[in-house]
Amino acid sequence: MTTNAELLRQLPSVEKLLNRPELTDLASDVERSVISRCAAEVLDQLRGSILSGQDNPRCFAETEGKLRLDLNALADDVARKVHATVSCGMRRVVNATGVIIHTNLGRSVLPKEAIEAVVTAASGYSNLEYELGQGMRSKRWKHVVEPLQALSGAEDALVVNNNAAAVLLCLNTLAPGREVIVSRGELVEIGGSFRMPDVMSASGAVLREVGSTNKTKLADYERAITDDTALILKVHTSNYRIVGFTEDVPVQQLSVLSKRYNLPFMVDLGSGLLAGEQSLAMPDGLRIDEPVVRDVVTAGADVVTFSADKLLGASQAGIIVGRSDYVERAAANQLARALRIDKLSLAALDATLGLYVRWPTRFAEFIPTLSMLTASVNELSVRAEEIRASLQNVLGSDFEVGVEPGYSKAGGGSMPLLELPTVLVSVSSSKMSADAIERALRLAEVPVITRIAEQKVLIDPRTLLEDDIEPLVDAFRVAAANEDR
Ligand SMILES: *Cc1c(COP(=O)(O)O)cnc(C)c1O
Repeated sequence: MTTNAELLRQLPSVEKLLNRPELTDLASDVERSVISRCAAEVLDQLRGSILSGQDNPRCFAETEGKLRLDLNALADDVARKVHATVSCGMRRVVNATGVIIHTNLGRSVLPKEAIEAVVTAASGYSNLEYELGQGMRSKRWKHVVEPLQALSGAEDALVVNNNAAAVLLCLNTLAPGREVIVSRGELVEIGGSFRMPDVMSASGAVLREVGSTNKTKLADYERAITDDTALILKVHTSNYRIVGFTEDVPVQQLSVLSKRYNLPFMVDLGSGLLAGEQSLAMPDGLRIDEPVVRDVVTAGADVVTFSADKLLGASQAGIIVGRSDYVERAAANQLARALRIDKLSLAALDATLGLYVRWPTRFAEFIPTLSMLTASVNELSVRAEEIRASLQNVLGSDFEVGVEPGYSKAGGGSMPLLELPTVLVSVSSSKMSADAIERALRLAEVPVITRIAEQKVLIDPRTLLEDDIEPLVDAFRVAAANEDR
């Protein structure tokens, strides 16, 4: 039995602790005051746990019936605390979920060209709001107007912070204090914070719901039109589909109606597919179930809004395309300044749009979101088999590693019903529950996010990048080595 007093007496001073090699090594990267504060905190904690009578205080080990302080372990604890204190909160993770546009994990991975553009824009000054030919001030979104005109067929374009901002800005521009007619079947909520009725009231427009949840007819819209009507709005039901006994009014009919009453007609597309089925070849007989921006413009929408980091595959941005007079009014709105896009997102968007323009039939090869979407089961099966072999290799006989058919999702509130066939790597163990494996992977040095089904941890190769395999295998190795913790 070792008394508390004996334990406390073994604790070193902060000064002595700081001279341990584990901590002197750190001094070249971190200021000494930070290390010393961490050391004091770790010592305080240890002292507290001794005084509270804890049976096995951290960093003590039993030798010859006595508890002795392990100074190495204590210094390691301090070093870990220093790392945790100075490391960035936002870190790279491996997305093994198979959800391509995973909003919680940052939505779209940027194309290589977009990453280079971000680095260039971040590393120095740029012509962000400067027209080089005239030597005059200009507008930041002008850089992407031409490609957006070419790709959407619209007269004009404007880019803001995200699609929620695009919708807010358009409503505030086109319908302040007046009524906007929307079908009851289209009052979407996206990701818990974008609710059409709430965005509407924030914009100062007044929601005028028509029809019912499953059926809205042209006559419902027409009957709702009064002197107070400012806008007809159609919202793409991104993250849900109403199936069964349903009816909604196509864009073209709403366009005819709005023109007859001289009203602007806006469509919020959500995801916004920039190129249609002809140029985006889906494998395995799959069909893309999302409207294409150009088709909606051609069908007569006056204003169309969509995200840049969903199926488009670029950075966070909200794109507005449509008739020049409406787009210009939106650009002149005071709110546009508050909702403006930042230069790094704009650089990434500009470079990504450039890929669509330069490679009208091959852009999907260069845009990760689209190459993930169009990966075939055959390709995925080869990758799954490679991952299975590497994992089996490091995990040993306590773990069962297999491959099995499954499904990936587009995510990001697009194509909610589309199941993309994939080949999953499954891992289970007699020594460790699936929950424990999932947790260990999530807490790895490079966190790996997985899903669990039927007591197995599942890895979907569809959302893995080339550089992800090594940290993925490492995370499993560490998880298995610490299986009893
Ligand atoms: C995703 C989505 C939004 C919000 O777009 P953000 O870019 O996330 O702001 C708005 N409307 C619809 C229909 C959407 O799908």
